[in-house]
Amino acid sequence: MQSSALPDLQATLKNVFGFPSFRANQEDIVRAIMAGHDLFAVMPTGGGKSLCYQLPALLMDGVCLVISPLISLMKDQVDHALSVGIKAGFLNSSLPAAERREVERRFCNKEYDLLYLAPERLATAGFQAMLAALPISFVAVDEAHCLSEWGHDFRPDYLSLSLLKELLPRVTIAAFTATATKKVEDDIITRLKLERPFLVRASFDRPNLHYKVLAKENVLVQIGREVGRHPGAAGIVYRLSRQDVEKTAAALSELGVQALPYHAGLSSEVRHKNQEAFNRDEVQVIVATVAFGMGIDKSNVRYVIHGDLPKNIDGYYQETGRAGRDGEPAHCLLFYSRSDMVRLGNFINQLEGRRDQNAGWQKLGQMADFAEQHRCRRRQLLAYFEEEYGPENCQACDVCVQGVEEVDATTQAQMLLSAIYRTGGRFGAGHIIDIVVGARTKRVKELGHTKLKTHGVGRHHPKPYWRQLVAALLAQGSLRAAGDKFPVLEITPAGEEILFGRAAFALSRLIEDAEQASQGLAVEQGHDQELFAVLQEVRRQLALQEKVPPYVIFSDRSLREMCQYFPRNAQEMTVIHGVGMVKLERYGAPFLAEIGQWLADHPQIERGALPAAVPLPPKAGKKGQGGKTMLESGGLARAGLGLGEIARQRGLKEITVAGHLEQFLEEGHEFDLGLFVSVDKQEMLRKAYQEHGFGYLNPVVQALDGEVSYDEARIMRGFLRGQAGEEA
Ligand code: ADP
Ligand code: MG
Repeated sequence: MQSSALPDLQATLKNVFGFPSFRANQEDIVRAIMAGHDLFAVMPTGGGKSLCYQLPALLMDGVCLVISPLISLMKDQVDHALSVGIKAGFLNSSLPAAERREVERRFCNKEYDLLYLAPERLATAGFQAMLAALPISFVAVDEAHCLSEWGHDFRPDYLSLSLLKELLPRVTIAAFTATATKKVEDDIITRLKLERPFLVRASFDRPNLHYKVLAKENVLVQIGREVGRHPGAAGIVYRLSRQDVEKTAAALSELGVQALPYHAGLSSEVRHKNQEAFNRDEVQVIVATVAFGMGIDKSNVRYVIHGDLPKNIDGYYQETGRAGRDGEPAHCLLFYSRSDMVRLGNFINQLEGRRDQNAGWQKLGQMADFAEQHRCRRRQLLAYFEEEYGPENCQACDVCVQGVEEVDATTQAQMLLSAIYRTGGRFGAGHIIDIVVGARTKRVKELGHTKLKTHGVGRHHPKPYWRQLVAALLAQGSLRAAGDKFPVLEITPAGEEILFGRAAFALSRLIEDAEQASQGLAVEQGHDQELFAVLQEVRRQLALQEKVPPYVIFSDRSLREMCQYFPRNAQEMTVIHGVGMVKLERYGAPFLAEIGQWLADHPQIERGALPAAVPLPPKAGKKGQGGKTMLESGGLARAGLGLGEIARQRGLKEITVAGHLEQFLEEGHEFDLGLFVSVDKQEMLRKAYQEHGFGYLNPVVQALDGEVSYDEARIMRGFLRGQAGEEA
């Protein structure tokens, strides 16, 4: 039944989809399907599952059936397939009878490559008769976890899929999902009766996602600031409660950001309207409870913010997974406060049954560990899915990018412990911190705590610092939180050791984020942002005309490359990522016209050299950000200025400049290293890095026993990495 000559997959990928290369596993899957193997594939959200069945559907004879659970997604998927020139249609209960008959007529006339189906269709006698009479190329089951009662989205109507092998005995079945434990996997394979299926389990790593955790203080202000870092880009803000969703959406609107709420308390009509507005780039931000997410395939979400701690890592991974489906860099920011544990704990305690409660607490604990521990966030996430992450430094989470340092905080810990000691271990963290910073709250005054010796001894550090210290002392076991509802802090024997000066205490903390502190912008550069905005508008208008979501026209990546390479004609346009033949013909002209106009209006623009056949992949994460300010520091170092001088001249902190110089060297630039790290220290550091690796500064500095500073270690690391990069 299949085409006899082996078609050139690579050429089809470029000509139809406009992509220069397959993503991991895609090619193997396509080949397996075309060779007639049943298949079961687990790939993360954004891994590119659709292409795995769309491409063979196009190349094989007959119609491919795609079973998909969500009516709302079907239309977008079909629009997307049509936009690249695949003949596709869908059948589900949302279609009026007349349209349904029309689709069925076309189906029987063999006019489709691809037909999307709601599962319950299969159970109808009429449709079964139709199937028997038609050549089916293969069946793809999307979101296959819906088949399993062990999964989180079980749908009874998916059970009718067990009919497939009876209805179509010789037809290949390919099942896809983004979430499946071994148990769910076995369940799906049994129910679909897959025969010795080709198994694919892709990595759950999402290399283009950047993870970061910040201490939650004034969260509305913090969210506003973060949204402000991504002007014009689409983002999702998750909040725990409906009230907080409403408050946050209102706060953002006040800042002039177009933001809409989404939660189960809104009517389904409003929810749908808001989701569509977001999907179509009419508003920039959607603020939502976890009710939001299933049923959107928007590929250009550039950031996901969690204003509250999620209940578990499964949820966090799913929600952050909605960022950057298009493979472009995207940011995931979690605001974390220990007090969220109390709120979530209340939910858990309401669960029925001890077992569920225990499981809930365990998962919440894992989530809190993720936020609190200074270990590579990516490694932690993947470990949760029982996947080991190879590289030592992921280059795209706060821990890896900023590095971790240990700072002696014995004196500060003593201040805090002493306040607890002097008040008899009867107060919670809030009150103790009030005492230490010298607050004169009603309660502090009433209790006479202004007269304590410790009142105000810690006023030179802000409250968040003290909260962090409390958390660290708790985590380390020097403090204990006793009591359920309003826990009080008690000193443990380990805490007494510190209090009475017999043990030291160090606070591990992330090194200040040099890029963010100096620049305050996390947007990617290297392309013309003004033109980008112009092309975004062209895309939006076209999308309106065609009644499809904008990302169906062109992805963010396509637009970004247009603003980098400024293609002047159709030929040059085909080099742009995501531009296949059909899209070029359909949408190329208005974009080329805008770009041509832009070049005419801006004769000074230097066009980036057009990539040859294959464009260079952009580096995720740190590269490109703050490039200019980094280069400026590097330039001054080249001119012979020292660290202190550069910092003074630029009004930056030394640590920030050291970060710049590290990156400067790492990227292969040069200056006289000896001005910053003496020759003998260079040798010591070289050896220490050989032993401890580049992941963290701290072990290296510790190993050298105070001989070198963090700044020296940092600059040397850049130099060594730069050398390693050259050799590689
Ligand atoms: P999934 O269903 O696995 O979550 P999708 O099929 O929706 O993922 O694909 C996510 C995004 O990745 C889409 O924007 C798609 O166009 C893009 N994509 C898929 N394959 C490739 C590829 N080989 N190269 C570049 N982009 C791709
Ligand atoms: Mg999908």
